[in-house]
Amino acid sequence: MGKIILTGDRPTGKLHIGHYVGSLRRRVELQNSGEYDKVFIMIADAQALTDNADNPEKVRQNVIEVALDYLACGLDPEKSTLLIQSQIPQLCELTFYYMNLVTVSRLQRNPTVKAEIQMRNFEASIPVGFFCYPISQAADITAFKATTVPVGEDQMPMLEQTKEIVHKFNSVYGDTLVDPKILLPEEEACLRLPGTDGKAKMSKSLGNCIYLSEEPDEIKKKVMSMYTDPDHIRVQDPGKIEGNTVFTYLDAFCRPEHFERYLPEYANLEELKAHYRRGGLGDVKVKRFLNEVLQETLEPIRTRRKEFQKDIPYVYEVLKKGSEAAREVAEQTLQEVRNAMKINYFDDLDLIREQSEKYKG
Ligand code: ATP
Ligand code: MG
Repeated sequence: MGKIILTGDRPTGKLHIGHYVGSLRRRVELQNSGEYDKVFIMIADAQALTDNADNPEKVRQNVIEVALDYLACGLDPEKSTLLIQSQIPQLCELTFYYMNLVTVSRLQRNPTVKAEIQMRNFEASIPVGFFCYPISQAADITAFKATTVPVGEDQMPMLEQTKEIVHKFNSVYGDTLVDPKILLPEEEACLRLPGTDGKAKMSKSLGNCIYLSEEPDEIKKKVMSMYTDPDHIRVQDPGKIEGNTVFTYLDAFCRPEHFERYLPEYANLEELKAHYRRGGLGDVKVKRFLNEVLQETLEPIRTRRKEFQKDIPYVYEVLKKGSEAAREVAEQTLQEVRNAMKINYFDDLDLIREQSEKYKG
Protein backbone atom coordinates (compact mmCIF):
# COMPACT_ATOMS: atom_id res chain seq x y z
CA MET A 1 0.00 0.00 0.00
CA GLY A 2 1.29 3.43 -0.98
CA LYS A 3 1.67 6.55 1.08
CA ILE A 4 -1.15 9.04 0.68
CA ILE A 5 -1.62 12.54 2.07
CA LEU A 6 -4.91 14.25 2.83
CA THR A 7 -5.18 17.65 4.42
CA GLY A 8 -6.99 20.91 3.85
CA ASP A 9 -8.36 24.23 5.04
CA ARG A 10 -11.71 25.86 5.64
CA PRO A 11 -12.57 28.60 3.13
CA THR A 12 -13.43 31.13 5.83
CA GLY A 13 -10.78 33.65 4.79
CA LYS A 14 -7.44 33.99 3.07
CA LEU A 15 -4.68 31.78 4.44
CA HIS A 16 -2.30 33.22 7.01
CA ILE A 17 1.24 32.56 8.21
CA GLY A 18 -0.13 30.18 10.89
CA HIS A 19 -1.43 27.92 8.12
CA TYR A 20 1.90 28.26 6.38
CA VAL A 21 4.08 27.04 9.26
CA GLY A 22 1.43 24.67 10.64
CA SER A 23 0.78 22.74 7.47
CA LEU A 24 1.18 24.46 4.10
CA ARG A 25 4.99 24.72 4.00
CA ARG A 26 5.25 21.04 4.93
CA ARG A 27 2.71 19.99 2.32
CA VAL A 28 4.70 21.57 -0.45
CA GLU A 29 7.88 19.83 0.77
CA LEU A 30 6.09 16.47 0.97
CA GLN A 31 4.52 16.99 -2.45
CA ASN A 32 7.96 17.61 -3.93
CA SER A 33 9.70 14.82 -1.98
CA GLY A 34 8.41 12.17 -4.39
CA GLU A 35 7.74 9.88 -1.42
CA TYR A 36 3.98 10.04 -1.68
CA ASP A 37 1.88 8.26 -4.27
CA LYS A 38 -0.94 10.73 -3.97
CA VAL A 39 -1.49 14.09 -2.32
CA PHE A 40 -5.07 15.30 -1.79
CA ILE A 41 -5.57 18.90 -0.69
CA MET A 42 -9.13 19.72 0.22
CA ILE A 43 -10.92 23.04 0.51
CA ALA A 44 -13.38 22.18 3.28
CA ASP A 45 -16.36 24.29 2.25
CA ALA A 46 -18.94 21.88 3.68
CA GLN A 47 -17.17 22.03 7.01
CA ALA A 48 -16.99 25.83 6.83
CA LEU A 49 -20.77 25.87 6.36
CA THR A 50 -21.29 24.05 9.67
CA ASP A 51 -20.66 27.32 11.51
CA ASN A 52 -21.43 29.72 8.64
CA ALA A 53 -24.79 28.35 7.52
CA ASP A 54 -26.26 31.84 7.29
CA ASN A 55 -23.31 33.20 5.35
CA PRO A 56 -22.83 30.99 2.29
CA GLU A 57 -21.49 33.92 0.29
CA LYS A 58 -18.48 34.18 2.62
CA VAL A 59 -17.64 30.52 2.05
CA ARG A 60 -18.25 30.78 -1.70
CA GLN A 61 -15.99 33.82 -2.08
CA ASN A 62 -13.18 32.28 -0.07
CA VAL A 63 -12.87 29.04 -2.02
CA ILE A 64 -10.91 30.81 -4.72
CA GLU A 65 -8.86 32.76 -2.16
CA VAL A 66 -7.67 29.54 -0.55
CA ALA A 67 -6.98 27.99 -3.95
CA LEU A 68 -4.89 31.03 -4.95
CA ASP A 69 -2.94 30.77 -1.70
CA TYR A 70 -2.28 27.08 -2.41
CA LEU A 71 -0.91 27.74 -5.87
CA ALA A 72 1.07 30.75 -4.62
CA CYS A 73 2.79 28.59 -2.00
CA GLY A 74 3.80 25.99 -4.56
CA LEU A 75 1.12 23.33 -4.46
CA ASP A 76 1.24 22.00 -7.98
CA PRO A 77 -1.87 20.56 -9.67
CA GLU A 78 0.40 18.20 -11.62
CA LYS A 79 1.53 16.61 -8.37
CA SER A 80 -1.36 17.23 -5.96
CA THR A 81 -5.11 16.83 -6.35
CA LEU A 82 -6.84 20.04 -5.26
CA LEU A 83 -10.50 19.45 -4.50
CA ILE A 84 -13.61 21.08 -3.07
CA GLN A 85 -15.20 19.02 -0.32
CA SER A 86 -18.87 19.66 -1.22
CA GLN A 87 -18.28 18.31 -4.73
CA ILE A 88 -17.62 14.83 -3.32
CA PRO A 89 -21.08 13.62 -2.12
CA GLN A 90 -19.58 10.27 -1.13
CA LEU A 91 -18.13 12.06 1.91
CA CYS A 92 -21.65 12.73 3.23
CA GLU A 93 -22.62 9.10 2.94
CA LEU A 94 -19.50 7.95 4.77
CA THR A 95 -20.16 10.52 7.50
CA PHE A 96 -23.69 9.19 7.93
CA TYR A 97 -22.49 5.63 8.52
CA TYR A 98 -19.63 6.69 10.81
CA MET A 99 -22.08 8.59 13.01
CA ASN A 100 -23.33 5.24 14.27
CA LEU A 101 -19.87 4.48 15.66
CA VAL A 102 -19.45 7.62 17.81
CA THR A 103 -21.25 8.61 21.00
CA VAL A 104 -22.48 12.09 21.86
CA SER A 105 -20.37 12.13 25.02
CA ARG A 106 -17.26 11.27 23.01
CA LEU A 107 -17.88 14.28 20.74
CA GLN A 108 -18.46 16.49 23.77
CA ARG A 109 -15.01 15.61 25.10
CA ASN A 110 -13.17 16.97 22.03
CA PRO A 111 -11.08 19.89 23.42
CA THR A 112 -10.72 21.71 20.08
CA VAL A 113 -14.46 21.60 19.44
CA LYS A 114 -15.08 22.73 23.04
CA ALA A 115 -12.80 25.76 22.55
CA GLU A 116 -14.39 26.56 19.18
CA ILE A 117 -17.91 26.39 20.64
CA GLN A 118 -16.86 28.84 23.33
CA MET A 119 -15.19 31.16 20.82
CA ARG A 120 -18.33 31.26 18.67
CA ASN A 121 -20.68 31.76 21.67
CA PHE A 122 -22.73 28.77 20.56
CA GLU A 123 -23.42 27.52 24.09
CA ALA A 124 -26.75 25.66 23.93
CA SER A 125 -27.42 26.44 20.31
CA ILE A 126 -24.65 24.42 18.68
CA PRO A 127 -25.61 23.40 15.15
CA VAL A 128 -25.66 19.59 14.93
CA GLY A 129 -23.50 19.77 11.82
CA PHE A 130 -20.81 21.73 13.64
CA PHE A 131 -20.91 19.35 16.59
CA CYS A 132 -20.38 16.42 14.22
CA TYR A 133 -17.65 17.89 12.05
CA PRO A 134 -14.94 15.66 13.57
CA ILE A 135 -16.92 12.71 12.15
CA SER A 136 -17.06 14.29 8.72
CA GLN A 137 -13.31 14.85 8.97
CA ALA A 138 -12.91 11.11 9.55
CA ALA A 139 -14.86 10.61 6.32
CA ASP A 140 -12.54 13.00 4.45
CA ILE A 141 -9.41 11.26 5.68
CA THR A 142 -10.58 7.69 5.17
CA ALA A 143 -12.28 8.30 1.81
CA PHE A 144 -8.89 8.98 0.28
CA LYS A 145 -7.21 6.18 2.27
CA ALA A 146 -4.83 8.75 3.71
CA THR A 147 -1.84 7.37 5.57
CA THR A 148 -0.47 10.80 6.53
CA VAL A 149 -2.24 13.98 7.62
CA PRO A 150 0.05 17.04 7.93
CA VAL A 151 -1.74 19.55 10.19
CA GLY A 152 -1.30 21.91 13.14
CA GLU A 153 -1.68 20.84 16.75
CA ASP A 154 -5.36 21.87 16.99
CA GLN A 155 -6.14 18.91 14.72
CA MET A 156 -4.81 16.28 17.12
CA PRO A 157 -8.23 15.52 18.65
CA MET A 158 -9.67 15.13 15.13
CA LEU A 159 -7.03 12.59 14.22
CA GLU A 160 -7.65 10.67 17.45
CA GLN A 161 -11.34 10.64 16.65
CA THR A 162 -10.65 9.40 13.12
CA LYS A 163 -8.42 6.61 14.40
CA GLU A 164 -11.12 5.50 16.83
CA ILE A 165 -13.67 5.38 14.02
CA VAL A 166 -11.27 3.39 11.83
CA HIS A 167 -10.60 0.87 14.60
CA LYS A 168 -14.27 0.54 15.46
CA PHE A 169 -15.31 0.19 11.83
CA ASN A 170 -12.64 -2.40 11.09
CA SER A 171 -13.44 -4.44 14.19
CA VAL A 172 -17.19 -4.46 13.54
CA TYR A 173 -17.26 -4.83 9.74
CA GLY A 174 -13.83 -6.29 8.94
CA ASP A 175 -10.61 -4.67 7.78
CA THR A 176 -11.63 -1.92 5.37
CA LEU A 177 -10.37 1.52 6.40
CA VAL A 178 -6.78 2.78 6.56
CA ASP A 179 -5.44 3.97 9.91
CA PRO A 180 -3.94 7.46 9.37
CA LYS A 181 -1.01 9.13 11.12
CA ILE A 182 -0.85 12.78 12.06
CA LEU A 183 2.24 14.69 10.95
CA LEU A 184 2.84 17.70 13.19
CA PRO A 185 5.34 20.49 12.49
CA GLU A 186 8.78 19.74 13.94
CA GLU A 187 9.28 23.22 15.41
CA GLU A 188 7.46 23.87 18.68
CA ALA A 189 6.56 27.42 17.54
CA CYS A 190 4.81 26.08 14.44
CA LEU A 191 2.46 23.70 16.23
CA ARG A 192 0.05 26.51 17.03
CA LEU A 193 1.32 29.89 15.92
CA PRO A 194 -0.14 32.62 18.15
CA GLY A 195 -1.93 35.66 16.75
CA THR A 196 -0.27 39.08 16.47
CA ASP A 197 -2.21 40.00 19.64
CA GLY A 198 -0.44 37.18 21.53
CA LYS A 199 -3.68 35.17 21.73
CA ALA A 200 -3.46 31.39 21.79
CA LYS A 201 -3.81 30.79 18.05
CA MET A 202 -3.66 32.86 14.92
CA SER A 203 -7.08 32.24 13.45
CA LYS A 204 -9.16 33.67 10.64
CA SER A 205 -12.06 33.86 13.08
CA LEU A 206 -10.14 36.04 15.56
CA GLY A 207 -8.80 38.71 13.19
CA ASN A 208 -5.26 38.46 14.56
CA CYS A 209 -3.60 37.27 11.36
CA ILE A 210 -0.84 38.18 8.99
CA TYR A 211 -2.12 36.90 5.66
CA LEU A 212 0.13 35.29 3.06
CA SER A 213 -1.08 37.80 0.48
CA GLU A 214 -0.56 40.85 2.70
CA GLU A 215 1.09 43.90 1.08
CA PRO A 216 4.54 44.94 2.43
CA ASP A 217 3.36 48.04 4.31
CA GLU A 218 0.57 46.05 6.01
CA ILE A 219 3.05 43.37 7.10
CA LYS A 220 5.28 46.06 8.56
CA LYS A 221 2.39 47.77 10.36
CA LYS A 222 1.23 44.50 11.89
CA VAL A 223 4.73 43.49 12.97
CA MET A 224 5.51 46.88 14.51
CA SER A 225 2.34 46.75 16.63
CA MET A 226 2.77 43.14 17.72
CA TYR A 227 2.44 41.87 21.25
CA THR A 228 5.79 41.39 23.07
CA ASP A 229 6.72 41.23 26.75
CA PRO A 230 4.45 43.76 28.52
CA ASP A 231 7.05 44.19 31.33
CA HIS A 232 9.85 45.08 28.92
CA ILE A 233 9.28 48.82 29.06
CA ARG A 234 12.70 50.46 28.71
CA VAL A 235 15.43 49.19 26.38
CA GLN A 236 17.73 48.39 29.30
CA ASP A 237 15.12 46.24 31.09
CA PRO A 238 15.61 42.46 30.93
CA GLY A 239 12.97 40.91 28.64
CA LYS A 240 11.09 37.61 28.52
CA ILE A 241 11.22 35.33 25.48
CA GLU A 242 8.53 32.89 26.63
CA GLY A 243 5.13 34.01 25.39
CA ASN A 244 6.77 36.86 23.46
CA THR A 245 5.10 36.60 20.08
CA VAL A 246 7.87 38.36 18.16
CA PHE A 247 10.35 35.69 19.24
CA THR A 248 7.84 32.90 18.58
CA TYR A 249 7.55 34.14 14.98
CA LEU A 250 11.33 34.30 14.71
CA ASP A 251 11.48 30.67 15.93
CA ALA A 252 9.05 29.76 13.17
CA PHE A 253 10.55 31.74 10.28
CA CYS A 254 14.12 32.85 10.86
CA ARG A 255 17.12 31.04 9.42
CA PRO A 256 20.85 31.73 10.01
CA GLU A 257 21.24 33.47 6.65
CA HIS A 258 18.67 36.08 7.74
CA PHE A 259 21.17 37.25 10.37
CA GLU A 260 23.92 37.60 7.76
CA ARG A 261 21.62 39.72 5.64
CA TYR A 262 19.71 41.85 8.13
CA LEU A 263 21.35 41.67 11.55
CA PRO A 264 25.01 40.69 11.15
CA GLU A 265 26.00 41.74 14.67
CA TYR A 266 24.35 38.53 15.94
CA ALA A 267 25.37 35.04 14.77
CA ASN A 268 22.01 33.42 15.40
CA LEU A 269 18.69 33.55 17.20
CA GLU A 270 20.16 32.21 20.44
CA GLU A 271 22.48 35.22 20.70
CA LEU A 272 19.65 37.62 20.00
CA LYS A 273 17.48 35.96 22.65
CA ALA A 274 20.30 36.06 25.19
CA HIS A 275 20.75 39.80 24.64
CA TYR A 276 17.02 40.43 25.02
CA ARG A 277 16.96 38.43 28.25
CA ARG A 278 19.96 40.35 29.65
CA GLY A 279 18.46 43.74 28.78
CA GLY A 280 19.74 46.42 26.44
CA LEU A 281 17.89 45.23 23.33
CA GLY A 282 14.76 47.16 22.34
CA ASP A 283 11.56 45.67 20.89
CA VAL A 284 11.76 47.94 17.85
CA LYS A 285 15.06 46.45 16.72
CA VAL A 286 13.76 42.88 17.05
CA LYS A 287 10.53 43.81 15.28
CA ARG A 288 12.43 45.42 12.41
CA PHE A 289 14.40 42.21 12.00
CA LEU A 290 11.24 40.09 12.06
CA ASN A 291 9.74 42.40 9.46
CA GLU A 292 12.72 41.77 7.13
CA VAL A 293 12.42 38.02 7.63
CA LEU A 294 8.68 38.01 6.90
CA GLN A 295 9.03 40.35 3.93
CA GLU A 296 11.62 38.01 2.41
CA THR A 297 9.46 34.93 3.04
CA LEU A 298 6.18 36.37 1.78
CA GLU A 299 7.41 38.32 -1.25
CA PRO A 300 7.67 35.35 -3.65
CA ILE A 301 4.32 33.98 -2.45
CA ARG A 302 2.60 37.32 -3.06
CA THR A 303 4.20 37.67 -6.49
CA ARG A 304 3.15 34.18 -7.61
CA ARG A 305 -0.37 34.78 -6.29
CA LYS A 306 -0.68 37.88 -8.46
CA GLU A 307 0.22 35.79 -11.51
CA PHE A 308 -2.49 33.23 -10.77
CA GLN A 309 -5.00 36.02 -10.01
CA LYS A 310 -4.76 36.97 -13.68
CA ASP A 311 -6.31 33.66 -14.71
CA ILE A 312 -9.17 32.81 -12.36
CA PRO A 313 -10.90 30.46 -14.86
CA TYR A 314 -7.74 28.33 -14.85
CA VAL A 315 -7.88 28.05 -11.05
CA TYR A 316 -11.52 26.90 -11.14
CA GLU A 317 -10.59 24.39 -13.84
CA VAL A 318 -7.87 22.98 -11.57
CA LEU A 319 -10.42 22.60 -8.76
CA LYS A 320 -12.97 21.02 -11.08
CA LYS A 321 -10.54 18.44 -12.43
CA GLY A 322 -9.22 17.72 -8.95
CA SER A 323 -12.73 17.27 -7.57
CA GLU A 324 -13.62 14.86 -10.39
CA ALA A 325 -10.54 12.75 -9.74
CA ALA A 326 -11.21 12.81 -6.01
CA ARG A 327 -14.80 11.68 -6.51
CA GLU A 328 -13.63 8.51 -8.23
CA VAL A 329 -11.30 7.64 -5.39
CA ALA A 330 -13.96 8.32 -2.75
CA GLU A 331 -16.51 6.24 -4.71
CA GLN A 332 -14.17 3.25 -4.63
CA THR A 333 -13.81 3.54 -0.84
CA LEU A 334 -17.55 3.99 -0.44
CA GLN A 335 -18.18 0.76 -2.35
CA GLU A 336 -15.77 -1.06 -0.05
CA VAL A 337 -17.54 0.41 2.97
CA ARG A 338 -20.95 -0.60 1.63
CA ASN A 339 -19.73 -4.12 0.97
CA ALA A 340 -18.24 -4.40 4.45
CA MET A 341 -21.50 -3.12 5.99
CA LYS A 342 -23.52 -5.53 3.89
CA ILE A 343 -25.65 -2.84 2.28
CA ASN A 344 -24.74 -3.95 -1.21
CA TYR A 345 -28.00 -5.89 -1.78
CA PHE A 346 -28.08 -5.86 -5.55
CA ASP A 347 -24.44 -6.84 -6.07
CA ASP A 348 -24.57 -9.70 -3.61
CA LEU A 349 -25.53 -12.80 -5.58
CA ASP A 350 -25.09 -15.01 -2.50
CA LEU A 351 -27.70 -13.02 -0.64
CA ILE A 352 -30.22 -13.39 -3.45
CA ARG A 353 -29.53 -17.13 -3.76
CA GLU A 354 -29.79 -17.73 -0.01
CA GLN A 355 -33.07 -15.89 0.22
CA SER A 356 -34.46 -17.78 -2.78
CA GLU A 357 -33.50 -21.10 -1.25
CA LYS A 358 -35.04 -20.16 2.07
CA TYR A 359 -38.43 -19.76 0.44
CA LYS A 360 -38.23 -22.65 -2.01
CA GLY A 361 -39.37 -24.90 0.83
P1 ATP B 1 -11.13 28.93 11.27
O1 ATP B 1 -10.98 30.03 12.26
O2 ATP B 1 -12.15 29.14 10.23
O3 ATP B 1 -11.23 27.57 11.94
P2 ATP B 1 -8.31 28.54 11.00
O4 ATP B 1 -7.45 29.74 10.87
O5 ATP B 1 -8.36 27.80 12.29
O6 ATP B 1 -9.76 28.93 10.49
P3 ATP B 1 -8.39 26.06 9.51
O7 ATP B 1 -8.86 26.08 8.11
O8 ATP B 1 -9.33 25.61 10.59
O9 ATP B 1 -7.84 27.53 9.87
O10 ATP B 1 -7.06 25.19 9.63
C1 ATP B 1 -6.35 24.69 8.49
C2 ATP B 1 -5.02 24.08 8.87
O11 ATP B 1 -4.12 25.06 9.36
C3 ATP B 1 -5.08 23.01 9.97
O12 ATP B 1 -4.14 22.02 9.66
C4 ATP B 1 -4.66 23.74 11.20
O13 ATP B 1 -4.07 22.88 12.15
C5 ATP B 1 -3.64 24.71 10.64
N1 ATP B 1 -3.59 25.94 11.43
C6 ATP B 1 -4.56 26.87 11.53
N2 ATP B 1 -4.19 27.88 12.33
C7 ATP B 1 -2.92 27.55 12.75
C8 ATP B 1 -1.96 28.20 13.60
N3 ATP B 1 -2.24 29.37 14.18
N4 ATP B 1 -0.76 27.60 13.80
C9 ATP B 1 -0.47 26.42 13.22
N5 ATP B 1 -1.33 25.76 12.41
C10 ATP B 1 -2.53 26.32 12.18
MG1 MG C 1 -9.80 26.08 12.53
